[in-house]
Amino acid sequence: MELNPPLADWDPAAAIAEAKARIHVAEASCGRAGAGVRLLVATKTWDADAARAVVAAGGTLVGESRMQELAVKGPALAETGAEVHVIGQLQRNKAATAVDFASCIQTVDSLRLAERLSRLASEREKELSVMIQVNVSGEDSKAGVDPDDALALAADVQALPSLTVTGFMTIGLNSSDEGAVRAGYRRLREIRDTALIESERGKYSLRDAWELSMGMSGDLEWAIAEGATMVRVGTAIMGARPAV
Ligand SMILES: *Cc1c(COP(=O)(O)O)cnc(C)c1O
Repeated sequence: MELNPPLADWDPAAAIAEAKARIHVAEASCGRAGAGVRLLVATKTWDADAARAVVAAGGTLVGESRMQELAVKGPALAETGAEVHVIGQLQRNKAATAVDFASCIQTVDSLRLAERLSRLASEREKELSVMIQVNVSGEDSKAGVDPDDALALAADVQALPSLTVTGFMTIGLNSSDEGAVRAGYRRLREIRDTALIESERGKYSLRDAWELSMGMSGDLEWAIAEGATMVRVGTAIMGARPAV
């Protein structure tokens, strides 16, 4: 597997500061100043040196998409003390790598996958955070559970040992149509709001499921305006990913 070294002229501290400033401006311009939207740096295709540099520069929440990459970079990331999340589609036969190196799996979209994660976490006497990935764009190519099934899945997953559902994640519509993209993000927020409200009423036990992981380099402002609590940024920090 080919992983790319950091670009020669890359300044991770400046890139991360710029991304954080963008988040702050976005928060302020939609009335969410001080909301504390977290920055997750998506380090897929970049090597362990690049990932280490990200953490050293203050990017202490890192997302990995491919388990073959996580197996390579995981030990280096663990040494940095970074918080590592899985943000890519996860096959059940790769779930062990995810549980070994990540504290949160954002891409749970089936009960079978959750059951496997639960078993692996229990064996390792670990508590694992998970998010429910929802396909809000309706595109066949996108992973994630149907929005109508998201709450039932979240409730079933929360009932499994060693797992805590901490929120919902989506990959937005890849479009320049602000209204269409934001409608998807709004849908995710409504699912999250229902989870919390119905947990207050005792229908679900999803009180910890407040997180909304949505928004990437190209549209994080729209996601923050719709309530994102975490944005996942790759190219805007790392530079353009070389073709893989
Ligand atoms: C790569 C990736 C990102 C970051 O995308 P950019 O457009 O490079 O910011 C965010 N979320 C997921 C799930 C990704 O795989």
